[in-house]
Parts: sequence; C-alpha cells; structure tokens
Amino acid sequence: MRVQNVAQLSALTNSGPRTVIIGSGAIGLYTATELVKRGRRVIVIESGDNSLGGFASDSYASIGVKHVGIGTARSRTLGGTTNLWGGQLVEFQPVDFVGREWIPGSAWPVQYNEIAPFYSETYQNLGIDRAMQDDSAVLKAIGTKKPEFSEGIELFLTRWLKVPNFASFYAKAISDEPNLVVLTDHTAVGFTGSDGRIAAVKVVQNGGLIQTIAGNDFLVAAGTVESVRLLLHSANDPTWVCPWRRNQNLGAYFQDHIGCRVAVVHPENSKSFFNTFGTAVLSGHKFAPKLRLMNEVLETERLLNYQGCFIFESSVSENLVYLKQFVKAAIYSRKITGVPEFFRNLMACGKYLVPLMWKYVVDHRVFVPKAATISLGVQGEQMPCRESCITIDDNLLDRNGLPRVVLDWKISGRELAAIREFTIRVDRALRGAGLARLQILDDLAELNPRFISNFSDQYHQSGGALMGTSEKEGVVDRNLKVFGTDNLYVGGSSTFRSVSNANTTFMALTFATRLVQHLTGGGAEKLISQ
Ligand SMILES: Cc1cc2nc3c(=O)[nH]c(=O)nc-3n(C[C@H](O)[C@H](O)[C@H](O)COP(=O)(O)OP(=O)(O)OC[C@H]3O[C@@H](n4cnc5c(N)ncnc54)[C@H](O)[C@@H]3O)c2cc1C
Repeated sequence: MRVQNVAQLSALTNSGPRTVIIGSGAIGLYTATELVKRGRRVIVIESGDNSLGGFASDSYASIGVKHVGIGTARSRTLGGTTNLWGGQLVEFQPVDFVGREWIPGSAWPVQYNEIAPFYSETYQNLGIDRAMQDDSAVLKAIGTKKPEFSEGIELFLTRWLKVPNFASFYAKAISDEPNLVVLTDHTAVGFTGSDGRIAAVKVVQNGGLIQTIAGNDFLVAAGTVESVRLLLHSANDPTWVCPWRRNQNLGAYFQDHIGCRVAVVHPENSKSFFNTFGTAVLSGHKFAPKLRLMNEVLETERLLNYQGCFIFESSVSENLVYLKQFVKAAIYSRKITGVPEFFRNLMACGKYLVPLMWKYVVDHRVFVPKAATISLGVQGEQMPCRESCITIDDNLLDRNGLPRVVLDWKISGRELAAIREFTIRVDRALRGAGLARLQILDDLAELNPRFISNFSDQYHQSGGALMGTSEKEGVVDRNLKVFGTDNLYVGGSSTFRSVSNANTTFMALTFATRLVQHLTGGGAEKLISQ
C-alpha cells in the first residue's frame, strides 16, 4: 500500500514488530517483498514519488576523476534506479571473494561457497526459473553449445529481466499487500536511538518538520552515494551518540566499474561469429554471451577481473533503440508520447522488420544487420583505493538539512595492463577458434598511459560502507549489520570490498536474500521478541 504522510502510516502499522527500509530501489523493494512473504511487516521510505526524477544538481559534486554516473545514473523515484537500468543479472565468481595479495584489502568476510547457494533463490524470486539459470541448458535450448577457447578465455551468459522496472515488477505487492507500506516523498535524514540500538528514522517532507518512524530493525538501501551520505550525516548529528561516529572506513574505498572500447572486430567466419555471440532470447528473457578469463588464470597471472562484450552498431541501431524505449515506456509507465517519432523510426527499420521478427521468433536471437560494425568493449574492476571516497560538505545543506555529498573518485591506472592482457588473450582465442581477429586500439596495444582517458564509469557505484571482519576493516559485518549497532543494516553494493567484472546488482540482491534469511530466521528475530 502506498501512503503519502506519516499520520496515515501510524494508523496502518501501529502494532507488531516491523522493519523499516530506507529507499525503494532495487534492494529496498526486493528485500521488502521477500520479508513480507515471510510474514514481516515492512515500511519502505522513499524520497521520490512516481515521476521519474534524479537528484538535484547542487546536492552532489564530483571532484577527482570525472564520474558521469553520479549525475545521470541515479534515480530518485519509486523503484529507484531500476527506472533506468537494463536489468542485466551477472554472477560474481569465486576469485572475487578471496583475498588476492596483488589487490590489497580484497578479502571479503563472506566467501563464494557461503553466498553462491543464494544465487538460485535470488534468480527465482526475480522470475528466472531453474532451467534458465544454467548456461549450458540455455545454449542447448537455442541449438548451440559452449565453445572452447584457448588463452584461459571462457564464454558465459548474462540474464536480463523481463520486467526490469521494480516499481512495475512489485506493483501488485505495493498496492495489495497489507503488510507492506511504502511512504513516498519523504527523505530519511537521520536516526534516533541509544546504546547501539536504533529506535526510529527521522524523515522530512519538502523541507518541513522532522518526524520519526519507529521500527524494530532498519535497512539503509538508498543507493551507494545516498546511503553513505545519510550515514555520514547521522554520524555528525549532535542530538545523539552515533554508534558509527568514529568509524574511519565510512565513505572510503568508493569504486565503480571501469569500461572502455578496446578493439575493432573483424569476423573471420560471420555465421559462426554471430551464432556464438549474438544475443539470445528464450521465454521472454534475453541472454548476452560474453567473454571472461577463467579464475585460475586470474590467480596465476595476478590480474584484475575484466569481461568483454561485443557491441554491434548499424545505421538502424538508433532507430531500434528508440522503438525499444517507446514500447517499454508504453508498457511500464503507460506513457504514450512521440507517436510520429515512433512511426518515423519504424519506417527507417522498414526492410529489417521481417528478418528482425524471424530471427527473434524462429532463431531465438536478436537481429544484427550484416553491415553492422563490431567493436569489443570491456568492463571490470578497479584497484580498490582508500583515498577514492565519498565525503559530505556541511556548509551546503539542502532544504531537508542534508549536506552536499562530494565524490572524489580515484583510479590507480594499474587497470590498463589488465585490460591490455585481457584484450590480447581474447584476440588470440578468437583467432585460434577461427571466429574473428581484433584490431586492438594503438594506445592500448602500446600500453600508453594516454589510453586511461578513455576509461569511464559504468553506473555501478560501489564501496563506501565496506563489509569487514571488524570496525578496523569495514563499516558493516558479514551480515551487513553496521558495527556498533544491534539493528541497523546496509544493503547494496556500497558494502562491496571489490567489484569483480560483473554488473553489481545481482550480487547485491543475493546478499539481500541472505539478509532476509538472517532477519527472519536468526539473531534479529530473537531481538524482536524480547
Ligand atoms: C542506465 C543504467 C543501466 C544499468 N544497468 C544495470 C544492469 O544491467 N545490471 C546491473 O546490475 N546494474 C545496472 N545498473 C545499476 C543499477 O541500476 C543499480 O546498481 C541499482 O539500481 C542499485 O540499487 P539500489 O537499491 O542500491 O539503489 P537505487 O536503485 O538507486 O535505489 C535507491 C533509492 O533510495 C532512494 N533514496 C535515496 N536517498 C534516500 C533518503 N535519504 N531517504 C529515502 N529514500 C532515499 C532513492 O530515491 C532511490 O529510489 C544500471 C544503472 C543505470 C543508470
């Protein structure tokens, strides 16, 4: 149920234990609905409302390496950044969790064998059934099989959600579920509590009075930048003794994926190339074949973890993107604008429409025109760096009293060698398989530091509230609980110690699945019953 003021909220949920979640984005709505399925009462506090909006441009500043995503890749709306994302789910690998001595601070307090058992349940909660979770089964269903490559390169599939917008995916739960209440248009600005126990969240609507929302346990799921901003601001709040006030790690180790194009691709055997790397479609889900280095090679060669994907561009690429956006907007936002533009783009795709439908329905593939140019793009982890950080500027407060957040993104440059090594290996592997040859960009091939200016953030903001074994190492423990507190948790990729090559949200959702189990079956349940 959606409400728009705190008084309404009190009337609805004034009895029984409840979890209060700050943020209705990917992690907030997912965790809320999973808790409700297990009988919990949940209140979600969302700063935005239904209309697609971002954060005010004077509420943040980016210093250091230019970070585009802090401005364009965050949404302050019901459903959060799932209003913008592609919904591509990618798994972290075993190597991502172990302490790699060439990546200082990379050891996670939770290992792969502890978290991987939650992958399947997470997929299933998002509507991806077991048959769709296994790469070999999907490849078999579309009439192909996993190719073998040399150079330690392997092919893997990423999975795309049918309904990426979580406000739509969870619309029924939000409207019908009595134990789920979503309070929109209210911004969390702090906490009350004592002796490490949080009693309530302080919220403000449009610069009005501060009100409090009490709960039994609390989850900060406001996206990396806003979660850290809220925790830093609360640490400075003179009206209480904040349990994490002295934590030196809060805000440190901000990370994002680094991405860039690395090569022009010349297929040797077009049919096999497109059959191997064309995006597949099965039961309404998209599956993108990508390349990565096997874990053993990353360990023996002491490399950072990168993945590669092929980018197909043709004269109608833009038209196709427009048509896709139009249909998405019509289905999910029920907004139909730009009808003449729709027909103009449809006409431009004219001769491709029949092959496009044929490819989709019969071959289970996304159509790529023969004349398309192909390039290889990479995405992967940056070297974690303490000085890459999020801070707040208390001299500049917004109307709700929240200080401006300042992002100082830093990258070490050591990523360049890892990207070059990965690209060279992909080139050799593709040539060896008779599929394609790469024309590697000169500056990269020559390891010229100038190439670093091609790096860009990939909208996967992470770090700032790292998971650690103690307060010396992080902000939250292995169960995502803030050190020094009994009942405050942080969800999302702000808790990641390193970022793998994989888009971060599936991993963050998997940790949310584990958190739900912890809250409903473990320690937190005991606290509530006291
Ligand atoms: C174009 C684009 C494509 C992407 N594609 C992918 C992809 O394919 N795969 C992938 O894994 N990731 C992708 N991402 C990243 C992904 O969208 C985010 O990682 C994910 O949405 C983060 O989830 P979250 O719940 O932590 O934060 P968000 O989804 O950003 O939600 C946070 C919510 O908290 C609210 N909030 C913030 N502060 C407060 C406050 N003080 N009080 C109350 N509410 C507050 C915000 O308004 C927002 O609704 C993409 C991002 C973009 C921009």
